[in-house]
Amino acid sequence: MQHSVSIRDLSLNFGNVKVLQHLDLDIAQGEFIVLLGPSGCGKSTLLNCIAGLLDVSEGQIFIGGKNVTWEEPKDRGIGMVFQSYALYPQMTVERNLSFGLRVAGMKKDEIDKRVQRASEILQIGPLLQRKPVELSGGQRQRVAIGRALVRDVDVFLFDEPLSNLDAKLRSDLRVEIKRLHQRLKNTMIYVTHDQIEALTLADRIAIMKNGVIQQLSDPHTIYNKPVNLYVAGFIGSPS
Ligand code: ADP
Ligand code: MG
Repeated sequence: MQHSVSIRDLSLNFGNVKVLQHLDLDIAQGEFIVLLGPSGCGKSTLLNCIAGLLDVSEGQIFIGGKNVTWEEPKDRGIGMVFQSYALYPQMTVERNLSFGLRVAGMKKDEIDKRVQRASEILQIGPLLQRKPVELSGGQRQRVAIGRALVRDVDVFLFDEPLSNLDAKLRSDLRVEIKRLHQRLKNTMIYVTHDQIEALTLADRIAIMKNGVIQQLSDPHTIYNKPVNLYVAGFIGSPS
């Protein structure tokens, strides 16, 4: 079977520090994978390697069966949503959504269609003429998701997209992200240090410690049959 994303013997060092160590991971088409673990365990580093924002020290990354280890981020068929929104402050929401497509030389009709569709899915239609400063945190994060959505990619990468939001918004947007996945059926790789988020969103959870995956299982198995004390302790202590 061809996987959506495959990681082969991936290592990354910052100087002498081994941040990722010989990771292997196969993700099926349409799967929602959560990378879970405490701060500093290497979740963002792994995501940034997949996105092409960091060069790996060793190993390979395949997306849609293609070896993308040395491809530019824009050529990898991925869309990324960060913890901080990274919107262009001087542009309207509509411009924020369409900018990347314009730069890529897409026709206006197609751009309009995609912006329409994203704003309908994320219910941000009424916000299109506003600037980011006029939006709430939750609305900004929706626009950030919209920017990945308009690119019509097969793989979404999320790096703690909800951790800057208050508890109520966090649970609302969590439900929306789940719905988004059910509707789009694309592959999602989602980084969090929040056990509840992981247990409610994931098809499978990869629990990381010091740049190594400790267990890769569905939420039920992780919860009921942790492979070691580390996994049991981490799952058992809500953040
Ligand atoms: P997480 O996202 O799980 O909190 P990170 O992937 O950000 O963890 O970081 C993993 C480890 O790599 C940490 O020990 C961090 O200090 C280190 N690290 C991250 N980025 C750099 C960098 N640019 N240079 C040196 N060390 C880094
Ligand atoms: Mg991180």
